[in-house]
Amino acid sequence: MPKSSYQNLLEKLKKEVLNCKKCSLCKERTKPVFGEGSLKAKIMFVGEAPGYWEDKKGKPFVGKAGKFFDELLNSIGLERKKIYLTNILKCRPPKNRDPKKEEIEACFPYLKKQIEIIKPKIICALGRHSMKILMEKYGLKKEIKPIEKIHGKVFEAKEFKIIPFYHPAFALYQPNKKEILKKDFKILKKLIK
Ligand code: URA
Ligand code: SF4
Repeated sequence: MPKSSYQNLLEKLKKEVLNCKKCSLCKERTKPVFGEGSLKAKIMFVGEAPGYWEDKKGKPFVGKAGKFFDELLNSIGLERKKIYLTNILKCRPPKNRDPKKEEIEACFPYLKKQIEIIKPKIICALGRHSMKILMEKYGLKKEIKPIEKIHGKVFEAKEFKIIPFYHPAFALYQPNKKEILKKDFKILKKLIK
């Protein structure tokens, strides 16, 4: 399929998300956050859900965690326009509470389609929720362990690798976790060489 067709598919999907009312998060959101980045991205990053600023702006990782995320990307010679960045949930849970099972199930088909269109070689799960869902959905359920045990490990799913990372927002104020996250990103650098 030519690139423009993939672009069209993604645009169509985005329109669906912007109008989505499949779960109750649609009631309190300001703007859904579809995700953004390169259609040719080899690496896709999947966070948890929009936070305060993401919900205001309709873009992923634009708050403090986003700044740190950019630092991490830059530290291995990557930038946002080379990757694809999105979340498990496209709408912000009130007060940034944890995602609920029914919200994840309602929203997951959008992420699944994004993955089918972009076809990344590596999916980086940011945080334990993203890790759990991606591993469950892509045949790695038995390998799930607490993120403290499997962050930075490379798992082989059928069509791509999955690597769990600590969430940048979680690591931001914990110096030891921050260092671990920086170190884990270096693994990514080796893989993309
Ligand atoms: N945290 C996330 O998981 N996603 C965002 O887009 C912002 C903060
Ligand atoms: Fe739709 Fe997902 Fe938003 Fe729920 S979180 S309303 S399923 S886009």
